Amino acid sequence: MPETEIIQLDNPGNPTPGDREKLRAAGARIREGALAAFPTETVYGLGGDALNPESSRRIYAAKGRPSDNPLIVHVCSLEAIDRIADTSDPNFAKLADAFWPGPMTLILPKKEIVPRETTGGLETVAVRMPSDPVAALLIEYAGGYIAAPSANLSGRPSPTDAEHVIQDLGGRVELIIDGGENPIGLESTIVDLTVPDPVILRPGYITDKMLAEALGRPVETDRAILDPDSGKAPKAPGMKYRHYAPKGELTIVEGEESAVLAYLREAVQKAHGSGRKVGLIVTAEHAQALKADVLRCIGSRNREDEIAHNLYRILREFDDEQVEVIYSEGFADTGLGQAIMNRLLKAAGHRVVRV
Ligand code: AMP
Ligand code: MG
Repeated sequence: MPETEIIQLDNPGNPTPGDREKLRAAGARIREGALAAFPTETVYGLGGDALNPESSRRIYAAKGRPSDNPLIVHVCSLEAIDRIADTSDPNFAKLADAFWPGPMTLILPKKEIVPRETTGGLETVAVRMPSDPVAALLIEYAGGYIAAPSANLSGRPSPTDAEHVIQDLGGRVELIIDGGENPIGLESTIVDLTVPDPVILRPGYITDKMLAEALGRPVETDRAILDPDSGKAPKAPGMKYRHYAPKGELTIVEGEESAVLAYLREAVQKAHGSGRKVGLIVTAEHAQALKADVLRCIGSRNREDEIAHNLYRILREFDDEQVEVIYSEGFADTGLGQAIMNRLLKAAGHRVVRV
C-alpha cells in the first residue's frame, strides 16, 4: 500500500511558480509509474502514464474497476493526439476546434503505441484535452499522456473535491493534488467518432445541441443509455455498470409540482413510521416547503449548472449521514439536464415514481 502524499497548491486557478514546481515533481513521479489524483474542470481524475501498461493495471486495482472498462487518455496539445490515434475523420477537427480544451471526450481508432490495458482491450481509444490549468501542466510534465478515470472507488459517486478523493483513495495512490472544488462536477461528454454518424455515448456539459451546431448536423445519443430496457449493451462499457450509487435507496419523483410535494411529504412520514432515516434532494424553489432528517438543496431549478455542480457532493453527504431512504425531485432532461438525469437515474438504479 503506498503512502499518500497530499499536494496543496497556492493558486490552482492560475498556478504560481511554486505550484509549477510541485506539479513538475508530480509529473516526474507519474513517469516513474506512480499514480496521482488530480483536479480537472469536470471531476477529479486518477492518473497514471497512459503508455505504461503497468500504470493502467494499477489504476484498475486502485479503483476496484472492472478491467473491461477503458480509461480516458488525457493530453495537453492537439499535436500529441496523432501519436496515439487516427484523427483523419473530418468531424474530429470540427469538434476539437469547437470544444477543446474542455469537457468533451472523443473515441478514435487507436494506434499501436497505446497499450490494450489502457483501452480495456479495445482497438479504439478515448481522448480528452482538459482546460483545467493544473491538469494541463501535470499532463505536460508527465510526458504528455495521462490515463485517468474518475478518482472514486468503483461504484461510488465521482469526486468533485479533494476531500472525496482522500476518502476513497487515501492509501491507494502515491499522490493526491488538491485543486479545490471542480467547477462542472459531472464527467465529460463522450462522442464516438469511430462510426459513420457520430454518437453521444455519455451526455455531459457539452450538449447534443452544441455538438450538432459544431458538426452542422443532428447528433444522436446511444439508445442503450436512454432506455435501459432496450436490451442493448451501451457502447461505452462503463455505462453498463451501476454507478454513482449512494448507500441509501434513492427514488426520483416526477410529476406536477403540487403532486410531487405531496408525495415527498408523505414519503418522509412513511419512512419515519418505519423508523428509517430519510433524505430529500430538492430545488431551491421547494427547500422551505419540505422537511426531512437530511434535506439538501441542489440549486435553483433554472440553474442547471448549479444542480450539476452539487449532485455528487450531495450523494456523498447522504452516505456520510447514513441516510437509508432518499427521494429526489426530477429535472428536465434537455440541455445539461440530460447529463444530470443520466447520472441521477443511474444513482437511483432507474427507480422513478410518476405522480
Ligand atoms: P470515467 O473515466 O470514470 O469517466 O469513465 C470513462 C468512460 O469512458 C467509461 O464509461 C468508459 O466506458 C468510456 N470509454 C473509455 N474508452 C472508451 C472507448 N474506447 N470506447 C467506448 N467508451 C470508452
Ligand atoms: Mg467514473
